[in-house]
Amino acid sequence: MDAAREQNYYYASTPAPPPHPTLAGEQRFDVCIIGGGISGLSAALHLAERGMRVALLEGWRLGHGGSGRSGGQSIFGYACEMSTLEKAVGAADARRLWDISTEGLALQRELIAKHSIECDYRPGHMILGMKPRHDKSLRAELEHLATRYDYHSLRFVGRDELRTLIASERYTSALFDSNGGHLHPYRYTLGLGRAATAAGATLFENSRVTRLEVAQQAGADNLVHTAGGTVRAPHLLIAGGAQLGNLVPSLARKLMDIGTYIAATQPLGEERVRALIANDAAAADMNWILDYFRRTSDHRLLFGGRVSYSGIDPFDSARVLRARMHAVFPQLTDARIEYAWGGHLDITLNRAPHFGRLGPSAYFVQGLSGHGMVISGMAGRLASEVIGGTAGRFDIFTRIPHRNFPGGTLFRRPVLVLAMLWFRLLDIL
Ligand SMILES: Cc1cc2nc3c(=O)[nH]c(=O)nc-3n(C[C@H](O)[C@H](O)[C@H](O)COP(=O)(O)OP(=O)(O)OC[C@H]3O[C@@H](n4cnc5c(N)ncnc54)[C@H](O)[C@@H]3O)c2cc1C
Repeated sequence: MDAAREQNYYYASTPAPPPHPTLAGEQRFDVCIIGGGISGLSAALHLAERGMRVALLEGWRLGHGGSGRSGGQSIFGYACEMSTLEKAVGAADARRLWDISTEGLALQRELIAKHSIECDYRPGHMILGMKPRHDKSLRAELEHLATRYDYHSLRFVGRDELRTLIASERYTSALFDSNGGHLHPYRYTLGLGRAATAAGATLFENSRVTRLEVAQQAGADNLVHTAGGTVRAPHLLIAGGAQLGNLVPSLARKLMDIGTYIAATQPLGEERVRALIANDAAAADMNWILDYFRRTSDHRLLFGGRVSYSGIDPFDSARVLRARMHAVFPQLTDARIEYAWGGHLDITLNRAPHFGRLGPSAYFVQGLSGHGMVISGMAGRLASEVIGGTAGRFDIFTRIPHRNFPGGTLFRRPVLVLAMLWFRLLDIL
């Protein structure tokens, strides 16, 4: 964590949070949550607010996963197209899934306000097109979301207007969403941790779960073991994201763990960053292997992109991201990269979230597929609903079919590399 702290802009720009204790001995709670990211912390907060005794076990420190490393872009919908969800669960439930995603945008703002979380939230998000094919699909998306989902905060931005918003020749059009936004994801995550603690949840850090005994009878305790202790709880939620590894092999088979990277420039001064992105919106292009960027509150440009199938190498990523950033903003050739860091994405084959049960009251939420800043908050809220006895909304997700990644453990990565080469080719066409 300390090496990462030097390279991750978010960690470096946040006062070191006081540590939570490490689990020791056997302790009993109503609910045990694995994972101190936004999903787990939102669940802890919502469950503690319901009066339940909650333990959350984080293997490293809060925000160690995607929640403390992310681009911080708050975007409607899911990583997959709504048409994927329509096919998977039918039009009526797809509509309910859509509503859950927009409730997530509102929930994020609500939690920030209610718990006074200082995380530099800024409204505005743009999806950027780069070719006529993209322009056409952005217009179609606008139409589809307005007519099928009554989503009316989107606006199509043509090339000339876009030039006044983003100082790059690269983009031909955009969908601007006044309902989206961006934030400092690590401070948001820590803020949820403080809110959960204030509501009565007990958080443990440096408490990596090494073994699980999932109860198969209603009312029996699940046993969650770490190196130093055990939590017994009748309710269990697994929210370990990409770093859960092989703790539950049946869950691991549904995920591919992909490395992805971000960099932050030196402070550029207010005038210079404003000239790059005039409306202070977050932006992401439409490629499969996308570039995304935004301003920070201390006037840097934060630029992410590029994926890796073989692990995280922040030093090399700084060089590669610099080149990608120059392709978008050639005027930044003199700007130093001060931070470059990586993180892991938990990608499912169809890129839809993977939620479900391992026992009568043992649940999991995973597979947010690189689009989890908003849905993670709702994953926690829906987990609190199902643990509280109302399964309806959680169960819509459990009806989305998911397949194992092809290739087994040995050939999974080579198969993925081939698939991604294909997607890269599509980006070029
Ligand atoms: C570089 C990067 C950029 C991204 N950019 C965006 C973006 O701009 N917009 C967007 O919507 N999404 C983005 N994402 C995705 C988003 O960050 C995630 O979907 C989201 O944070 C997932 O939250 P989570 O709580 O489910 O998982 P995580 O934040 O990964 O939290 C899971 C936690 O579980 C812990 N854990 C794992 N195994 C164990 C164990 N055995 N015992 C105890 N604890 C364990 C981990 O240490 C981790 O802290 C990005 C992700 C990355 C990596």
